[in-house]
Amino acid sequence: MAANQNRVYRENEIIFREGESGDCAYLIESGTVLVYLVKDGTESPLRTLGPGEIFGEMSMIDNSLRSASCRAVTEVSLVTVTQTQLTDRLQSPDPIVRLMMRAFMDRLREQNNPGRSLPHHPSPAESAADEEEKKKALERLSLENKITSALESDQFVPWYQPIHDLRSGGIVGCEALIRWVQPDGKVVSPAVFIDVLEESSLILKVGKRIIEKCLADLKQMNQDLLLPNNFFVSINVSGRQFADEEFVTHLEATRAHFGVLAHQVKLEVTERIMTEGTAAIATLQKCSDLGYRIAIDDFGTGFSSLQYLASMPLNDLKVDRSFVVQMTTHEKPLSIVKTLIFLANLLNLGLIAEGVETAEQRNLLRMLGVQMGQGFLFAKAMPYADFIAFADGTSALPKAA
Ligand code: C2E
Ligand code: CA
Ligand code: CA
Repeated sequence: MAANQNRVYRENEIIFREGESGDCAYLIESGTVLVYLVKDGTESPLRTLGPGEIFGEMSMIDNSLRSASCRAVTEVSLVTVTQTQLTDRLQSPDPIVRLMMRAFMDRLREQNNPGRSLPHHPSPAESAADEEEKKKALERLSLENKITSALESDQFVPWYQPIHDLRSGGIVGCEALIRWVQPDGKVVSPAVFIDVLEESSLILKVGKRIIEKCLADLKQMNQDLLLPNNFFVSINVSGRQFADEEFVTHLEATRAHFGVLAHQVKLEVTERIMTEGTAAIATLQKCSDLGYRIAIDDFGTGFSSLQYLASMPLNDLKVDRSFVVQMTTHEKPLSIVKTLIFLANLLNLGLIAEGVETAEQRNLLRMLGVQMGQGFLFAKAMPYADFIAFADGTSALPKAA
């Protein structure tokens, strides 16, 4: 049967024979099929399958020959699943899924045909690729496990990077940046683990923990620094967190618990939130209605549809570091920064420049009309106590009246 076809087989018609190449699997829509082996001219049945069941998937997955024959018992209607249809879907998931699938298939084949060698012999190149894939899967699993136990022992904490008013130089807020502080004091950057978190449900747990710590710290900051009401803490929130139906309830309960104002909390989202569906956008709107401020992060680096800029409840636009780094030496990044400023002014959004490392960049941004900036020129992200000491020592920090 040719791939990508649905077909009806008559009673007793052969669907495939043992030893034939198998490039597709079958899903039974209606009717019954028999899977059998032929030994010394005698048919020995293996199993009978009915509507909803799948067969022929093993040889399709590993490109091997059919290890049994199959025929229609009654009239059957079959839908095919081709190898391409499956591999398209299997390419994207992570190597762990592929590794598990492979192990599972080998085990199943061995059980069905004990002692038979695999008809498919991988080439040296395929074996090397397999080994590489296995290594990646193992590293990834090991990291996920370490992250899970680190989460249990509370090793993820927010560090704070000050955000300055570029005109006055005063601190107007800060961005919470996650750090993995290991028991031996080693600090691991999010570059190592943020993808693992965001690609698994771990981000939901870690995200909640970060929100709890940030709001507890915000309460303490208000007391330690006598902050004005418009001082804000920016928290990075991934699209997956926004898609979680518990997100707003948890955020609001935590905020109420620490008695801080929603207005002092800024949620930083990236353009990727648009790929999380309408529920995530609805959550964003709910947060905005509750008084939380919203900033769009890494703006201009994602898929940048201008349509969402108009449809999202935004307060600020963050100019990505990649443009700031190059704008004093290259014309195009400078033009992009100017365009972003124009756009933000048009849409009545505040502007925060990221990655300000030199006085030249700060001066240019200030001249162009960017209100706020953060970067190594001012300070790197630091633990809570250091941030308080830094902010306290900065005379330009606005105090509550
Ligand atoms: P981001 O949100 O774009 O954060 C800004 C990153 O730029 C931070 O890296 C910060 O340390 C770095 N940075 C700030 N100023 C400068 C500068 O002047 N020069 C240079 N070279 N870098 C600067 P970090 O802390 O490594 O965070 C990386 C990313 O991890 C963040 O990028 C954000 O996407 C993600 N992330 C951090 N914390 C969280 C979190 O709590 N939740 C989620 N979902 N993501 C987080
Ligand atoms: Ca951010
Ligand atoms: Ca950013």
